[in-house]
Amino acid sequence: MTARRPLVAGNWKMNGLSTSAAELERMIDAAGPVASAGVELMIFPPATLIARLAARAAGTPISIGGQDCHARPSGAHTGDIAAEMLADAGAHAVILGHSERRTDHGETDAVVRAKAEAAHRAGLVRVVCVGETLAERAAGRAVAVVARQLEGSVPDGATGYDLVIAYEPVWAIGTGHVPTAADILEMHAAMRALLRQRFGGEADAIRLLYGGSVKPDNARTLLTLTDVDGALVGGASLKAADFLAIAAAYV
Ligand code: PEP
Repeated sequence: MTARRPLVAGNWKMNGLSTSAAELERMIDAAGPVASAGVELMIFPPATLIARLAARAAGTPISIGGQDCHARPSGAHTGDIAAEMLADAGAHAVILGHSERRTDHGETDAVVRAKAEAAHRAGLVRVVCVGETLAERAAGRAVAVVARQLEGSVPDGATGYDLVIAYEPVWAIGTGHVPTAADILEMHAAMRALLRQRFGGEADAIRLLYGGSVKPDNARTLLTLTDVDGALVGGASLKAADFLAIAAAYV
């Protein structure tokens, strides 16, 4: 099986002012042990901080990404940011289809897929998010829902270099609730199987992250499960000590 490098990614969401550069500084200062253990680290700050943090993080073990992009490279789209603009600001990656975007901005699988194609055009790694609601899980439809999202949101031709999938059950995000190990194992195995059907052997190089209430005290349990190749972390990524303690699950 292809060895997949663990990835721990922090989604700062709509949090962070210029003073947050100090938190990135603390992460850079303390990232050595996890970086030496081979863990890849990414931080996704709000768009206003990307250029500043990307400049600071250049040449360190931490890379910087955006939280969303528009599907088109330019044009009359007030308030939106093109993938090319993210790349130009120093971003290495972009989160797409986060459940908060799917809910707050009505993003469909087709929209997410178009954005993922745009991100590829701009040379960005795509971190595509999928995940079921509590009602969908209760109805026994979690795997079917995620399968549909995966099929609809992920563009053709994806590889392990340019695509990461984050399984984030909507009900686990910011709630302190996490799925059972058995549920995560089932979902990640199902996602891997679907990716194999579509991308053949390349699917074994695509990293599958778990996201939803990952904290320092549950990280080792969650992140060492089979087919879990890392984490997408929200709240706990705002503090360097917590973020790096999560990544230390792999040390
Ligand atoms: C997220 O929003 O991607 C997330 C996983 O948030 P939290 O870790 O706070 O649950």
